[in-house]
Amino acid sequence: MRHEWIVEEVEKVFDELDAHLQKTAGQSGLKCPDFCGMCCRKIDIEASPIEFMPLAAWLYKTGRVDEFLERLDHPKHPWCACFDPDASARGAWGCQYYEHRGLICRLFGFGFRLNRESLPVLVTCKIMKSTQTEAVAKAGEMAAMHPEEMPIFSHYFMRLLAIDPDLAVPQMPINDAIRIAIEKFYFHYLDQQESEK
Ligand code: SF4
Ligand code: SF4
Repeated sequence: MRHEWIVEEVEKVFDELDAHLQKTAGQSGLKCPDFCGMCCRKIDIEASPIEFMPLAAWLYKTGRVDEFLERLDHPKHPWCACFDPDASARGAWGCQYYEHRGLICRLFGFGFRLNRESLPVLVTCKIMKSTQTEAVAKAGEMAAMHPEEMPIFSHYFMRLLAIDPDLAVPQMPINDAIRIAIEKFYFHYLDQQESEK
């Protein structure tokens, strides 16, 4: 039950975060250019296993675990296993598991970190900064006027930490985080089968 509970709690946090980001991005006008996905082409993205517990649960529920482990074990590219680098050429977004992406994936580009003065600073990419100067400036103005209304990385991280510190604290390469989340469910189901015998 605990694993299912964790997934439900993480999904609640993600739903709130998505609504929060939609509101602030809508107000500032921040928007990724269609089918960009350049931030998924970083080889050093780090995440924690808890961020991918919903993905792991969904993979088990839909019978897609083996297919996903194949992606992890025999990677066709050096990036996140969820990423399809050929998608943008087809006019599609690159994340193949977008609905189940991690916290970092949701926040990057649109979320804020707190600086030394505890004021929110937008964490975004060079593409946004160079192509959306007005929206980036507007997001900065909004943060200065209403800092308490901005989606802050550390606030959402703390929410995940409160759900399960063991799964939220370790930061690691994103594919390792996904693998650990999948393994957690594997052992969870194994335990369940044992207890039913
Ligand atoms: S956050 Fe930046 S790099 Fe990532 S998809 Fe949006 S514009 Fe592209
Ligand atoms: S989970 Fe999706 S959005 Fe996050 S890095 Fe991987 S491909 Fe990109």
